[in-house]
Order: sequence, then structure tokens, then C-alpha cells
Amino acid sequence: MKKIVVLGAGYAGLQTVHRLQKLVRGKAQITLVDKNDYHYEATELHEVASGTQPALKITYPLADVLDPAVTTFVQAEVVKVDQAKKQVELRDRAALAYDYCVLALGFVSETFGIKGAKENALEMTNIKQALAIYDHIMEAMRKYKKTKDKKYLQLIVCGAGFTGIELAGALAEGRATYAKEAGVAPKEVKITVIEAATRLLPMFSEKLATYGVKLVESLDVTLLCGAKIMEVAPEKVIYEKDGQNESLNAATIIWTTGVSGSPVVNASNLKERRGRVVVTKHLTDPDDDELYLLGDVAAVMDETTERPYPTTAQIATQMANYAAKDLAERINTGHHLARPFTYHSKGTVASVGNTHGFGVVGKTEIKGYPASFVKKMIMNKSLYEIGGVKELLAKGRFDLYH
Ligand SMILES: Cc1cc2nc3c(=O)[nH]c(=O)nc-3n(C[C@H](O)[C@H](O)[C@H](O)COP(=O)(O)OP(=O)(O)OC[C@H]3O[C@@H](n4cnc5c(N)ncnc54)[C@H](O)[C@@H]3O)c2cc1C
Repeated sequence: MKKIVVLGAGYAGLQTVHRLQKLVRGKAQITLVDKNDYHYEATELHEVASGTQPALKITYPLADVLDPAVTTFVQAEVVKVDQAKKQVELRDRAALAYDYCVLALGFVSETFGIKGAKENALEMTNIKQALAIYDHIMEAMRKYKKTKDKKYLQLIVCGAGFTGIELAGALAEGRATYAKEAGVAPKEVKITVIEAATRLLPMFSEKLATYGVKLVESLDVTLLCGAKIMEVAPEKVIYEKDGQNESLNAATIIWTTGVSGSPVVNASNLKERRGRVVVTKHLTDPDDDELYLLGDVAAVMDETTERPYPTTAQIATQMANYAAKDLAERINTGHHLARPFTYHSKGTVASVGNTHGFGVVGKTEIKGYPASFVKKMIMNKSLYEIGGVKELLAKGRFDLYH
């Protein structure tokens, strides 16, 4: 029996296991490792951070998906992959030996070395952090009630990429709840997004990006573009705009300027850049054919643009489907699949609040309510692929707007 160790139960890791369980039954043993005994939908973290969705709606127990006859689950923190010894080092546990390893440990926040960002801004890369953001906002509102200091009503989002825009929309939707806690009118709660670029959302046409910006602004969110963040001090963001240093005070500062791949990639001495490895056409490490890298730790080159595809849940899931088939092929025949991995985008859609959005599906630009609907359908598809109808029903996902 071959030993397959899958690291990470996010989109890439869990989908790999879900597929593999059926393909290698009786021929391989699978071990899945994650820090948590649940899967969370990272694409919805902004909803938990803003309090517009409970954490339970975007998480489900791994036990619901795993087949104990084929897969063993180990709850532990991965420290490093030792390729020479073909084993995975875990914190406070014995190492795990493997024949094939699938590294799918996702993303962490990238501060680009900006002073004070790590210490003074809140990150939003997992459920615990998202819940901590919501608690922090509500605590700030209670502090306002006691002190009447306006900084407690200020929320700053650093970075107006996809995540920052989605978060700003969700915070706008949560505004009435925050205001109630502070005992003020909703318009007193101020939401500002600070962004260095002047042309936002470059993945969309200028017309569609402008629509998205207007949509966010219509929710009374201030978008401060062309403002380069120089430092995050305690409860203060210092930025440069038009050659001048300026600053904004806020008790809540959330960091969404970008992500890099898991630090385990660097700790494992792989040839990486920002925690990502440019993988082979079979999604393996160029220096180690027994190590697959999937999801946000991998860079897959788009041959038309000669740049890596953006890291998304969509590409992570497609990589997982391919890797599971490729692994099964190797176990059955000793060879890789003849066809290389290719990515087919179903569309890129940003949600703004619960009922609006904008994006592109195929060559068609979509806006407003239809975009929000499409986004929910794309995300439901991944939940369906991994969890099946049971999870969709359990999460109330057929009732899309509650
Ligand atoms: C707010 C937000 C909105 C987004 N919206 C979209 C969208 O609309 N569409 C889209 O396609 N993508 C979107 N993304 C991007 C998408 O979420 C990621 O690309 C995707 O989650 C990557 O999947 P993954 O499997 O590589 O990693 P993840 O889903 O992050 O899973 C990684 C797993 O590894 C575990 N783990 C991490 N480190 C360790 C360790 N050391 N030891 C043990 N376990 C560990 C984690 O617990 C987790 O279960 C969004 C991201 C964010 C933050």
C-alpha cells in the first residue's frame, strides 16, 4: 500500500482527499493533516469578520467528508516537509512518512515589510482571525459608548484588492449592527479603504472596475486611492498621498493588501517566491516529482500572459481534481497522466454585501443582483463537490439570501 500524505484541508487539500478516496481504495492509505478538525470556506471570511454570517455557516466537520476505511485524519500543525527523508515534520508529534505528499497549506497575510502592519493591524486569513475582527469591532463600539472618542467608530481596510472590496461591502452591511452597539446613527460609523493604486481591480475592464468602485461608494464607504501606506502605528495608519504624509486614526485597522503562500514552503527549502513554487505541468515540485503543490502555495503559469494565474479557490479545486487523478494513475500504472493540467475559469465575481456584486463570466460582464447570484452559485459548486448535497442543505445554501 502506498502512503499519501495530504497537508491542509482547505479547498485544494480536502478536494484532493475527497476524489482520491474513491480512486485509490485498497491501493493506498491517505493521511490528511490540518490544524483544525473542520474545513472553512476562506472565500467567505469577510462575512464572518463583519458579522454578516455566523462562522458555522462557512465551516463543516472534516469527519463528514472523510472515509475512515481509506483516510486517517491527524490534527496537528505542519512544520516542514523533509524531502530527503520523505517525511513530514509536525509540531509536538512524530513525523509522518510518505511515498507521495500533497502540500496544500494555503495562504498567510503579506505585509510587504510595511512597518507596524504585523503588530497593529488585524489579519483575516482564517476563522479565528475573522471572529477576532468581529469581536474587536463590537468591543470598539462599546468603548465609544463609554468614551465618546470617535476613533472607535472608524474602521480602516488596508488594500482595495478583491478581498478589501468584498470586506468593505460586508462591513457596510454590518454597519447598522455596529451603530446599535455604539448607540449612534449608522452614518456615524465610518468605513475607509486605503489603497496605493489609482486603477483598482486590474483583472476587470476599466468600465467594470469603475462600476465596482461606485457600488462600494454608494454604501457610504470612502475609497482613498493613490494613498501609499507607509506605516501602521497603534490605532493609526500613516500614508503618502500626492507627496504628502497624512494619517487617519481608527481603533479597527484590517490588513488585506495581499497574501503569500504558507511559510512551510520556505521552511521546507523549496525554490519559492512569496511562499509559492512554480509547479510542473503535473503540479509537482520541479525538483521532486513525489511532492505535489496545490492551491495558494503553487504558481501555475498562464501561457497566454506568461504570468501565473491569480491564486483562487477555483483554481485550487481544479488543481485538486487533476492531482487526485494523476496520483491514482501513478499508483495504478506507474506513470503520470498523459495530459497536463489546464485551468478553465468559470468566472471572477466580487460580492459587495449580500445582494450585489460585479464580475466576468466567460466574456460577459455581470453586475448587481445577477452577479451576487452567480458568485453564490460558483461557491456553492465547490461546497457541493466536496461536501455533497447534505452540506449545502445543512448550511441553508438553497436559501441563498439569508
Ligand atoms: C475574503 C476572501 C475572499 C475570497 N474570495 C474568493 C472568490 O470569490 N473566489 C475565489 O476563487 N477565491 C477567493 N479567495 C481566495 C481563496 O480563498 C484562496 O485562493 C483559497 O482558499 C486557497 O485554497 P487552498 O486550499 O490553497 O488554501 P486554504 O483554503 O487556505 O486551506 C489551507 C488549509 O491549511 C490549513 N493549514 C494552514 N497552515 C497549516 C499548518 N502549518 N499546519 C496544519 N494545517 C495548516 C488551514 O487550516 C486550512 O484548512 C478569497 C480569499 C479571501 C481571504
